[in-house]
Amino acid sequence: MKYISTRGETAPKSFSEVLLMGLAPDGGLMLPEHYPQISADTLNQWRSLSYPELAFEIISLFATDIPSEDLRDIIGRTYTEAAFGTPEITPVRTLSDGIKIEALSNGPTLAFKDMAMQFLGNAFEYVLNKEGKQLNILGATSGDTGSAAEYALRGKKGVNVFMLSPEGKMSDFQRAQMFSLQDENIHNIAVKGMFDDCQDIVKAVQNDAAFKQQYHIGTVNSINWGRIVAQVVYYFAGYFRATDNNSQQVSFCVPSGNFGNVCAGHIARQMGLPVRRLIVATNENDVLDEFFKTGRYLPRSTEHTHVTSSPSMDISKASNFERFVFDLSGRNPQQIQALWADVASGKGFDLGGEMEKVRTQYGFVSGKSTHADRLATIKTVYAQDGELIDPHTADGVKVAREVREAGETVVCLETALAAKFEQTIHEAVGSVAVPRPAGLEGLENLPQRVQVVENDTEAVKTIIRTALQG
Ligand SMILES: *Cc1c(COP(=O)(O)O)cnc(C)c1O
Repeated sequence: MKYISTRGETAPKSFSEVLLMGLAPDGGLMLPEHYPQISADTLNQWRSLSYPELAFEIISLFATDIPSEDLRDIIGRTYTEAAFGTPEITPVRTLSDGIKIEALSNGPTLAFKDMAMQFLGNAFEYVLNKEGKQLNILGATSGDTGSAAEYALRGKKGVNVFMLSPEGKMSDFQRAQMFSLQDENIHNIAVKGMFDDCQDIVKAVQNDAAFKQQYHIGTVNSINWGRIVAQVVYYFAGYFRATDNNSQQVSFCVPSGNFGNVCAGHIARQMGLPVRRLIVATNENDVLDEFFKTGRYLPRSTEHTHVTSSPSMDISKASNFERFVFDLSGRNPQQIQALWADVASGKGFDLGGEMEKVRTQYGFVSGKSTHADRLATIKTVYAQDGELIDPHTADGVKVAREVREAGETVVCLETALAAKFEQTIHEAVGSVAVPRPAGLEGLENLPQRVQVVENDTEAVKTIIRTALQG
């Protein structure tokens, strides 16, 4: 299997090569040259597999340059009951109104990013050691991505993580989660500024080609192909748990921001998984809802991005969306170049003429949720089912209830646990105790490891240099 760029000007690459890549050199995103097709027989055989066995079957269709036994070992060490809380890894349950919930949030940081990042950590270590390379991940986080990356890469050979976060802006829980890590290769850097300042520093360092090369600087952002491929697995797993046999169809409802999660659902559907519809749920930051309703894609600037109570979806430029539009265009890189030139110039684009195809051939629909909807949904689920769902999952459940048709099985992806967002939970249902997974009770009391720096690129470079010359 070779990988190509959505912009068409990058030589085909192997899985191991794209694993360590961010954007393609031509500015595009990497995708497999075709999607493997899963026959009815294969789908039948896969139904009885355990999660790690299923993950191996699916990922081995894409990671063709990693020897089978090595891949089996990487996956076997990743999807364990110890890391994800249950042997099913992504158990499916049913709410009293019939909506099903697939739990993707039982990993070490209680959010769905662990599903992919835990795999990526082990795969990175494997590829780097094999090639005798070193990689130093530099990232900026407002919460979920940074902690998922740190928990995936802690203690791994050949990798260091330098994670910038805005000082004092994360929740106590998020801060404790990241800063309590004592591993030598994890470097928490709190910047005296906002999230955007952190991101600007990362970009400035990335743009310093000499520094980047000398210190082997890389990233783990949501456009990484290794993350998408690992996410394809739980669409198959969720389908098998929600159905009795393969003649049935299900729809997935996905709380979305960067379009990474639902992009994996699109790929699963293209591989032949019997998915009826892919329901894209957004919060007040509704660029994707607008596209799926009208065909207009008008990314907004940071100033026009709302700060909401489902913060991991506060995104107004969906970085993985280009992968879907590439397929929609009939894989036409010239068209993608033209469309994204219009995005770059701030004009956006209008594919209104394609919407029939988006709905019928690709199965996409969408909806949006607001703060009030989120609180009301958390409240009704608590009243009807006695359980607390997190604000992002609530956005999904709200939209699923709205768009569900008679007889349709809808699986909502649970992207975080309520324990991460106690404040919003209390706003919705009053001061009830929000359950925490075992082992995290005293998290905020553990000793923390963090360096505080001025909002200054040179200061961050000095920290990196000092740590690596150590
Ligand atoms: C990252 C995240 C999302 C959005 O996922 P995308 O892949 O960016 O669409 C939704 N919910 C939670 C809790 C997240 O951490």
